[in-house]
Amino acid sequence: MAETTNPLLDDSPLPHFDAIRPEDIEPGIQELLAKLGTQLLELERAATPTWAGLIEPLERIDDELSDRWRVVSHLTGVANSEALRAAYAAVEPKLVKFAVRFGQSRPVYDALCALRDGDSWQHLDSAQQRIVTLLIRDAQLAGVGLDGAARERFNAIQTELADLSTRFSNNVLDATKAFATTLTTREEVAGLPESALQLAAQSAREAGDAGDAGATPADGPWRITLDQPSFEAFMHHSRRRDLREQLYRAYITRASDGDLDNAPLITQILKLRREAAALLGFGDYADLSLATKMAPGVEAVERLLEELRVASFDAAHRDLADMTAFAAAHPELQMNGPGPSPLAHWDLHFWAERLREARYDFSEEELRKYFPLPRVLDGMFGLAKRLFGVDIREADGEVPVWHADVRFFKVFGEDGEPLAAFYLDPYARPAQKRGGAWMNECTGRSRLFTNPRGGPRLPIAYLVCNQSPPVDGQPSLMRFREVETLFHEFGHGLQHMLTQIDYGFAAGIHYVERDAIELPSQFMENWCYHRETLLGLSGHVETGAKLPDALYEKLCAARTYRAGSFMLRQLYFGLIDLALHHGFDPDGDRSAFDVQRQIAEKASPLPPVAEDRFLCSFAHIFAGGYAAGYFSYKWAEVLSADAFAAFEEAGLEDETAVATVGRRFRDTVLGLGGSRPAMDIFTAFRGREPDTAALLRHNGLKTA
Ligand code: ZN
Repeated sequence: MAETTNPLLDDSPLPHFDAIRPEDIEPGIQELLAKLGTQLLELERAATPTWAGLIEPLERIDDELSDRWRVVSHLTGVANSEALRAAYAAVEPKLVKFAVRFGQSRPVYDALCALRDGDSWQHLDSAQQRIVTLLIRDAQLAGVGLDGAARERFNAIQTELADLSTRFSNNVLDATKAFATTLTTREEVAGLPESALQLAAQSAREAGDAGDAGATPADGPWRITLDQPSFEAFMHHSRRRDLREQLYRAYITRASDGDLDNAPLITQILKLRREAAALLGFGDYADLSLATKMAPGVEAVERLLEELRVASFDAAHRDLADMTAFAAAHPELQMNGPGPSPLAHWDLHFWAERLREARYDFSEEELRKYFPLPRVLDGMFGLAKRLFGVDIREADGEVPVWHADVRFFKVFGEDGEPLAAFYLDPYARPAQKRGGAWMNECTGRSRLFTNPRGGPRLPIAYLVCNQSPPVDGQPSLMRFREVETLFHEFGHGLQHMLTQIDYGFAAGIHYVERDAIELPSQFMENWCYHRETLLGLSGHVETGAKLPDALYEKLCAARTYRAGSFMLRQLYFGLIDLALHHGFDPDGDRSAFDVQRQIAEKASPLPPVAEDRFLCSFAHIFAGGYAAGYFSYKWAEVLSADAFAAFEEAGLEDETAVATVGRRFRDTVLGLGGSRPAMDIFTAFRGREPDTAALLRHNGLKTA
């Protein structure tokens, strides 16, 4: 047989993004699965219940499969095309089949149990013991205990669920792309800031919708879409209430009719999840989801969500009343009057922004000019140095990338040794890139693989954002929220990259409970409000000036602005998610939309509009990994706020104290990954279990 020339399978440490083509994917993955299938067979024949005889070969198979597949799913997320999507769809069922076979291998499962019950167990360290225990649990959750028809049914469900979630996500992407409105008069774009006009004019040019030759952003036309930067800017700033309503209705009904309707998929997904949970012996899907989480059970989650709901409910209603009153008092700010009382959904962002400007006297647009991306990166890396002692250096051009805008950085430790590296893909590219922001692994730390300098293979991360792109030769000017998002993903990246665990199965974010995974990310967001850090991030794009003190003070004051509303909104999503997976009967008389409406009564200041089909684009729970786990954001926010409070208690202005606590954070939360239960790691850092006081204090909320 000829040597493989498939660039997807090349075993150099970094993927050949310059060479991998969609047509490489299907043959590449097939070849890989054939090879790993043989390795798995050999392991099943000859597995010895020891670390080296069982866990290491398992890790090798798992690692190679995940590394290669991650390249494919990464490209689908950042460089989507018809061809790529077709290739992805063609190989996904094969991959799922292999993953199921791998996860359900009875000989492997028996060997794992023999390892746990045998003499060599006591010679394993606690991280190794935890890995074996969790591998056994995962095998059980993968259906290893099922036989005959039950196993067949369980497997069929997994395949169908994977397909449904891919379709769900593609429908959202297609529906988002399908909508665009082209505006041609100044009156129609009244209120939009210069940057939004530029973006919209650029989008029109790219769509072939250009006006006269030599037209400037001031002349239009302007193309408004449902992708985040365009949609948000319009909802925040357009003075045309009728156009905002049109855009809002388009947004809230995405993927809800015709070929792209996700409603039947939702019902089917919920049914199949419930059936799968029952086959494994769980009461419902929420119980199954919580079996792998830090939260001890549904009741504990409900208790937390209810505590926070009560703490934020009145505040959210006050916010709505304040905005409504403000709108009534300033009808001149909108082109067609103040709007109803209370306001409608499509008024909220607009009036929230106007009230913010009135109260805090700064606009997002003014603020953005202080945060050009290069400045923000310098400041963020400076913080990483102060807290964790790491040096981050630019290494653009050293590695192949999937798009010209992608950057590459290397991370070095205190003694100058290389620790990790990461890609950064900062800007929105609506036609190719999935919305939102995320961190993913490219490859992870492991002692099983070689590092050219000796020691374990080092971790590499992908940081992907969707922030405002550079327009007309200026650097990307970041909205403050985009700065926070970058810090957030960087926090995930740090946990992946600064891991001190050499066992691949528990290194970085591996085996970190899902509801603890947002701890480092949300923790990092807190630093965006720390004076020295924030000033270090800022530099006015024209003058280079630091953020003025007065603006900083206002930003801090604005931090708790509508905090109750934001918290209640997250709780609304979390409660819907939990309700749909706990106690809801997808075969019953009530629809998922009825559940949403019922929860809105206690967790949304405004009832949803009649045609609200938000669930049809709720990809987190129907196409992402957050099913019966959306609460994890809040669970982890409690942890992250409480962790930041440890720095506040030590004194944020005391560099030495901050460095001491920072190193402790690095050596526990960031360093230990999934090698110990999240509660143990948190307690090791904080000296006690977490509580909600810091979160409520940071949000300006008090317990009842
Ligand atoms: Zn996150």
